[in-house]
Amino acid sequence: MRMHNPVFRIRNKFDQYFLKDKNIAKKIVKILSFQDYDSVVEVGPGLGILTQYLLNYRNNIFLIEIDGELISFLRKNFSISRNRIIHKDFLKWSPEEVNLRKFAIIGNFPYSISSKILFHILRYNQYIPECVGMFQKEVVKRITSHAGEKTYGILSVLIQTFYEVKHIFTVTKKVFYPIPNVKSAVVFLRKKNNPLHCDKDLLFKCVKTAFNQRRKKLRNSLQLFKHLPNFYDISFLNKRAEELSVKEFLKLTKEIEIRIGYD
Ligand code: SAH
Repeated sequence: MRMHNPVFRIRNKFDQYFLKDKNIAKKIVKILSFQDYDSVVEVGPGLGILTQYLLNYRNNIFLIEIDGELISFLRKNFSISRNRIIHKDFLKWSPEEVNLRKFAIIGNFPYSISSKILFHILRYNQYIPECVGMFQKEVVKRITSHAGEKTYGILSVLIQTFYEVKHIFTVTKKVFYPIPNVKSAVVFLRKKNNPLHCDKDLLFKCVKTAFNQRRKKLRNSLQLFKHLPNFYDISFLNKRAEELSVKEFLKLTKEIEIRIGYD
């Protein structure tokens, strides 16, 4: 494979750790249900180890890769139409550019931007019923944490608002080339069916503001909203962000939203 060719440059700045183990690649692709969507978007396909198995299930795939050299490699080696092999930073890509309205996301995600990737997925969550991918274990811990746990935070609440999160399996570092410093795990996100009853932007604002001072009681950390009518009647103000469950965050946001409406 080209990764063993000395001419090929591994780009540290693009967080390149290529998966070598084909069985793991197959297993990751098989996690997708391929239901309720036609298209699959792969983030950072690299040399295409996931892509080759993905093509067994769907032709309708879009690859988004930041490294121009890898783009040439993918265009040469995969029979996917050129305009679906997209040379772009995923964080700057929008599904509207290619008119995608429902798709799954897959990837062995670049480690240093995994939180940003998750926020990007959250931004377009209405289009994304499923996501499967490899993250560093620390990020997996964060998105699977519950109230009261040390790693419970902004991403835990926001991801769990929209998705059921399943930790599928852990992989050893040896399955990558080069070998990374961090451990990895594969997670599956499946869209929750219940619709959001509060405003999405306001939810993001409440959660971020509350966790800015995670150990303070909400009556203090949410001072931003104290001008609202009957602010002090809002539920949970005696609790701290780190203690508030996802459900409670949704209720809190709704109560703030109602007061903004009366403001
Ligand atoms: N999926 C491949 C490669 C994983 S390494 C495999 O499993 O072997 C991460 C990949 O993400 C690399 O190909 C890297 O070039 C790409 N990448 C890094 N940052 C990116 C970004 N912002 N947008 C899109 N791709 C990115």
